[in-house]
Amino acid sequence: MIVNMSSTATQEQIDHVMERIKECGFLPHLIKGAERTVIGVVGKNRGRRNELEALRVAPGVEDLISISQPFTLVSLQLQTQRTIVNVKDVRIGGPELVVMAGPCSVESREQLMETARAVKAAGATILRGGAYKPRTSPYDFQGLGLEGLKILKEASEETGLPIVTEVMGIEDLDAVVEYADMMQVGARNMQNYPLLRRLATVPRPVLLKRGPSATIKEWLLAAEYLLSGGNPNVVLCERGIKTFDSELRNTLDLVGVALAKELCHLPIVVDPSHATGRRSLVPAASCAAVAIGADGLIIEVHPCPERALSDGPQSLDLPGFAAMMQTLQSAMAVAAAGR
Ligand code: PEP
Ligand code: MN
Repeated sequence: MIVNMSSTATQEQIDHVMERIKECGFLPHLIKGAERTVIGVVGKNRGRRNELEALRVAPGVEDLISISQPFTLVSLQLQTQRTIVNVKDVRIGGPELVVMAGPCSVESREQLMETARAVKAAGATILRGGAYKPRTSPYDFQGLGLEGLKILKEASEETGLPIVTEVMGIEDLDAVVEYADMMQVGARNMQNYPLLRRLATVPRPVLLKRGPSATIKEWLLAAEYLLSGGNPNVVLCERGIKTFDSELRNTLDLVGVALAKELCHLPIVVDPSHATGRRSLVPAASCAAVAIGADGLIIEVHPCPERALSDGPQSLDLPGFAAMMQTLQSAMAVAAAGR
């Protein structure tokens, strides 16, 4: 960080700022120019960074310029090698594009088994499905809970596909850890810091969805909670954000994916289903996500979308998913060659 003192700053004010920097556990480096003075601040005392930032209002200070990111551990500034996250034997962030697919909600054994077999045959390598559902209305289907987790496990055992499923609250955490191979933090929970702190301590990779109104910085800082708490196995997921347009469910922030990849070393997957809310747009959004450098996709698939208990309009049916995977093959080959 650089503290830019105002041209009228007195020696006493400069001394005070230098002293305060030392008190916060950092080293000040004074640079006196002909007209003004700047103070370079070095050190890693992350916990007191906000005290340093308060110096912005100290007498004689004109401006503070941050030169390192507040999300230190996820930043590419500190770790220049990209992280690869293993979900059982599936590697996310390597040369292969990873496709996670399955229904929005686990509704029954038959529905999940049929979907699991079909998505596997079409090339998906991770099975998704919600057992605990964050529904906007309390009157909507809330998920099968523990029974849903058991069905997921059975489908995983039969197909060999690892499972990603959402954990909505700390109260369900132990059950989800027992059955899931990857813990999904839903968009609504991206800033549930007590939940993130607990997930930092569990021996499972985490899929961290971007909050509908979260900035890139807030999203990366949420990931920082997981890494700083001890869990380095984090995959980010862009699932659309709120904008002024109401034609689509959300707005897919594809350039945000590219930016997040410039800023951090974690793998990033795209969820075109929630981002668009419309099944017809899912294949095109998926190709675009691959083209911009996403490490994977998470896609909602249902054997009969018109009967789905949640998110039917954005779910591909089984032949639709297989067809999309065919179209994606060439996009995947191009992406793999470029990695
Ligand atoms: C989901 O994956 O079904 C889901 C609820 O997603 P999001 O948290 O992105 O809305
Ligand atoms: Mn859904």
